Amino acid sequence: MTYDFDLFVIGAGSGGVRAARFSAGYGARVAVAESRYLGGTCVNVGCVPKKLLVYGAQFADEFEQAEGFGWTPGQASFSWPTLIANKNREIERLNGIYRKLLVGSGVTLLEGHARLLDEHRVEVDGKTYSAERILIATGGWPHIPEIPGHEHAINSNQAFFLEELPKRVLVVGGGYIAVEFASIFNGLGAQTSLLYRGELFLRGFDSSLRTHLHEELGKRGLDVQFNTDIARIDKQADGSLQATLKDGRTLQADCIFYATGRRPMLDNLGLENTSVSLDDKGYIKVDDEYQTSAPSILAIGDVIGRVQLTPVALAEGMAVARRLFKPEEYRKVDYRMIPTAVFSLPNIGTVGLSEEQAREAGHAVKVFESRFRPMKLTLTESDERTLMKLVVDAKTDRVLGCHMVGPDAGEIVQGLAVALKAGATKQVFDETIGVHPSAAEEFVTLRTPVN
Ligand code: FAD
Ligand code: NDP
Repeated sequence: MTYDFDLFVIGAGSGGVRAARFSAGYGARVAVAESRYLGGTCVNVGCVPKKLLVYGAQFADEFEQAEGFGWTPGQASFSWPTLIANKNREIERLNGIYRKLLVGSGVTLLEGHARLLDEHRVEVDGKTYSAERILIATGGWPHIPEIPGHEHAINSNQAFFLEELPKRVLVVGGGYIAVEFASIFNGLGAQTSLLYRGELFLRGFDSSLRTHLHEELGKRGLDVQFNTDIARIDKQADGSLQATLKDGRTLQADCIFYATGRRPMLDNLGLENTSVSLDDKGYIKVDDEYQTSAPSILAIGDVIGRVQLTPVALAEGMAVARRLFKPEEYRKVDYRMIPTAVFSLPNIGTVGLSEEQAREAGHAVKVFESRFRPMKLTLTESDERTLMKLVVDAKTDRVLGCHMVGPDAGEIVQGLAVALKAGATKQVFDETIGVHPSAAEEFVTLRTPVN
């Protein structure tokens, strides 16, 4: 049987674009359908605009710190509409780059919603296309619990397009997005509370990171409330919002932002016309080569619910392209030692096992920790402290995890990830010459275990 395409990709986000471009580069006939925006979540309502807003929020620190270095900055004022307009312009530029990348690599771009008709046919805007293989890379979508008044809350997609910076914001959740956006709103001058339902936010991260970040956010005036959840939201006559908490207290706000996780984007995808099955959390079930239960259909990225990070979606896209069209270069994605950053202010950077995970996995561990005042802050009033932590296997001396809270942690951890992936021992860290003066050198000068 002949098909219109060798590969039909649904979703031009991080994973879909990577798979489409590389497959076309290997000589396959490829189409990609995109219903919303080229570049997907990361480029439009994720990593990129988020990081731009974080940079924006960081200037508040810079102005304050400048005085210690002899500067007298003028009266600073901030315009949210300017930041958003400039951010939008940059995103449009990136959308254009993605278009060029796709079209330039010979991919047929179909701008419209794709729906599966069966295991080899997809409909986009009333037209039917056939393909030998179909790759689902439709990503995820924010999930807000359906409490009374949830329609008054916004999600991360909407936060990027607010017309005004709200004066009072409640951010609900304790994951990456909640912590990052609480830092953004707080840094930009909104009166911000972060409400998390559990004992301590960032479940799954090393507990020293979690407690240290909690302290640092507090020092910056962010109101962090744990064991707190909203029972209902009511709109007031003046347009403001009232949140009634489960413990009966009420909080007033101009904006309530839910960052309570994401669900797989399967809306009107036509999965019912195929034999693709879902896992118990509703994500598309795949094997370790991204094969769904339908032989001709694969899936990657957030929609399979493994590790919801752009570089992981890219790696999965690459693996699919190679396995199908360049098998001699195929390598499985290695999910160990994935570095990650939470771009809060200050940042978290982390790679490898947390102390808790290392102990649970049965390692006898040595822990090295350092807390210090970053040099840049020594001439300022700031009492912010940086945390660095190494988790080491006491038997093999192998470094199992590197963790940091502090300026540029997201940048610093990338290099450490290379070392950990190469199996570096603590001795290798000790024998590595530091870069002086830097914060990062602390990772190679930690000498005495704390336990
Ligand atoms: P997506 O990038 O979501 O792409 C899916 C695409 O499919 C979308 O463009 C969508 O419109 C399209 N689509 C869906 N259904 C259809 C259909 N039926 N027909 C046609 N098109 C369809 N990750 C990081 O690594 N670092 C970060 O700093 C970071 N920050 C983030 C901040 C926020 C606020 C959010 C929400 C996410 C962030 N992420 C970050 C996660 C990252 O964005 C995702 O892991 C990544 O985008 C997943 O890529 P994907 O290809 O699976 O899906
Ligand atoms: P996460 O899954 O990271 O966090 C969700 C948070 O919401 C958790 O703290 C969870 O609490 C809480 N929560 C879930 N349901 C409810 C509920 N019904 N009521 C109250 N609280 C609830 O999701 P995010 O939305 O923050 O981010 C999605 C993913 O996107 C991340 O996991 C990450 O993979 C990716 N991302 C990556 C970034 C980066 O690399 N810097 C930045 C932003 C996103 P509990 O812990 O108790 O379950």
